[in-house]
Amino acid sequence: MSEGGALARLLAVQDLDTSITQLQHRRVALAEKAGLTALEMTLAALASERVGAAARRAELVAVQKDLEAQIAVISERRGGIEQRMYAARGSSTRDLQAMDEEVRHLTQRRAELEELELVAMVDQEPIDAELAVLAARAAPLEAQVTTVRAEVETGQAQIDAELATAVSARAAEAAELPTALADRYETLRQRLKGTGAARLTGHRCEGCHLELSAVEVERLRALPPDTVVTCDQCGRILVPV
Ligand SMILES: [Zn+2]
Repeated sequence: MSEGGALARLLAVQDLDTSITQLQHRRVALAEKAGLTALEMTLAALASERVGAAARRAELVAVQKDLEAQIAVISERRGGIEQRMYAARGSSTRDLQAMDEEVRHLTQRRAELEELELVAMVDQEPIDAELAVLAARAAPLEAQVTTVRAEVETGQAQIDAELATAVSARAAEAAELPTALADRYETLRQRLKGTGAARLTGHRCEGCHLELSAVEVERLRALPPDTVVTCDQCGRILVPV
């Protein structure tokens, strides 16, 4: 294989590398372009609002349950005392008065706790309304996300197929390059934003888009076709076409 053939092959590798990079960028940009990223962010914000509201509601429910438990204990104690009062007709007036006093005290305490329980229940109402609003806002967005995500996945699958073809074509071409040329190309490519080899079209280097002097172009075109030269301006391997 001649060097001229090697340089033509190098350009083929460069073109495939450029295509692969473009496809990878397109793949990454797909979700954003389709609006999926924005939708997902909106939904995430709604979800976090819902979590916050649900936590506030759970706190109130816990308070309510705790009050209910306290109320149950008080009711049981009051019931016990009342039974003792009915059963203790022979008790002293003083004992009956003490029991009566405790029943009144427990009744009052229970009323206070029931008032607090009512507050805890009433406070849940605006949160329930808030949760309903958040759920209503999220529902159409969730449906939209499902549709858009499916579109993005279809687009990604198409790009993946193109990528697989390009990657295997690139591997086949690169395998045929002389090792020294391949290494030099890789080094330049990493240093120069993905482009290690460029066409010389007329007087212009397609790598840096600068014009070479007529004298320099004449000199390059007169070289034997197997000569590897680089652009004076950008340092890329320059291939006259
Ligand atoms: Zn250049």
